[in-house]
Amino acid sequence: MHLMLDVLKNIFGRKPNAIVLDLDNTLADDFGSEARPQAMEFLQYLQKQDYRIILWTNSSKDRAREIISRLKFRDYFVETIYREDYDPENTGIYKDIRKINGDVLIDDDPEEIRKNRANGKVGYLIPSYRRGQLEDQELFKALDRLRL
Ligand SMILES: [Mg+2]
Repeated sequence: MHLMLDVLKNIFGRKPNAIVLDLDNTLADDFGSEARPQAMEFLQYLQKQDYRIILWTNSSKDRAREIISRLKFRDYFVETIYREDYDPENTGIYKDIRKINGDVLIDDDPEEIRKNRANGKVGYLIPSYRRGQLEDQELFKALDRLRL
């Protein structure tokens, strides 16, 4: 936790601006059938704090759009990046948030986090959310740990 704060302070010397979020197992369950507990409050909070919230998903546009609209996430994102936008051949290109001036990536994939940290970005590895984990509080924990 302290390490994270130091990293943030060193990198920004200011409040981070752009928060990049993963969709599957981060904001929703594996099937996109339900939102992670506290997801709406989490997004509302970030928006109220004037962060630019960007969704970056490895899901296809068709699939992700349907989920985002059904779970009522749409109005929170200033930008959405789908698989077709960065890895059209699905060859495993990672989410390099430098390309979009992202400051923080919150994702449940350790590889995405590792690569972004190697680029000097702040990566927050959130435990994967699975359907029915009603006690999950990881999104609020992330806000707390990242001091957002
Ligand atoms: Mg994921």
